[in-house]
Amino acid sequence: MRLILLGPPGAGKGTQAQRLVEKHGIPQLSTGDMLRAAVQAGTEVGKRAKAVMDAGELVSDAIVNAIVAERIDQPDCARGFILDGYPRTLVQADAVEAMLAERGIALDTVVELVVDDKALVGRIVKRAEDAKAAGQPVRKDDNPAVFEERLREYYKKTAPLIGYYYAKGKLKTVDGMASIDAVTAEIGKVLAAAAK
Ligand code: AMP
Repeated sequence: MRLILLGPPGAGKGTQAQRLVEKHGIPQLSTGDMLRAAVQAGTEVGKRAKAVMDAGELVSDAIVNAIVAERIDQPDCARGFILDGYPRTLVQADAVEAMLAERGIALDTVVELVVDDKALVGRIVKRAEDAKAAGQPVRKDDNPAVFEERLREYYKKTAPLIGYYYAKGKLKTVDGMASIDAVTAEIGKVLAAAAK
């Protein structure tokens, strides 16, 4: 199964992706996680991405496309994968389509988590508090000021993908404001129906 989770920052893509990993035994490919690992490791990509990420803006298409192209060739992706936070621009969406076509594989479904913007800032603040309480590092971009920029980037550059995938007949929408378990159940239903 090849799946894209679409939705603004804080919509719950990461949480739902982890549940799908457990259920389907395929990896979660989070470009945010990959970029944070590159920043942590001090690689060339990490050095180029750090300031952009800290400002809540999008890293260049060329960088993220290259990261994903390399990652999907790893053996654990052979049975499928869940793209979380990628693609985030129309250029990236075209790139992923080309990547999959080159490999003779297709995208199955795009699940959009529909959420209420006003609730998102609260979720982000909570995510930062939870990380702190658990003794984990708090993401530098999980604060209200940077979050607003991330949300603006989403509406400017990522939201057009909703129409892009709708036109391709791939888009399924799920109410992301329901409880985590209810969202998981709804995604399960949507995927089961899409597989028929
Ligand atoms: P995330 O963990 O998905 O919220 O991503 C954190 C940050 O990483 C974003 O605000 C961007 O700066 C960067 N990033 C992650 N994925 C992408 C992507 N597909 N395209 C561009 N930038 C990305």
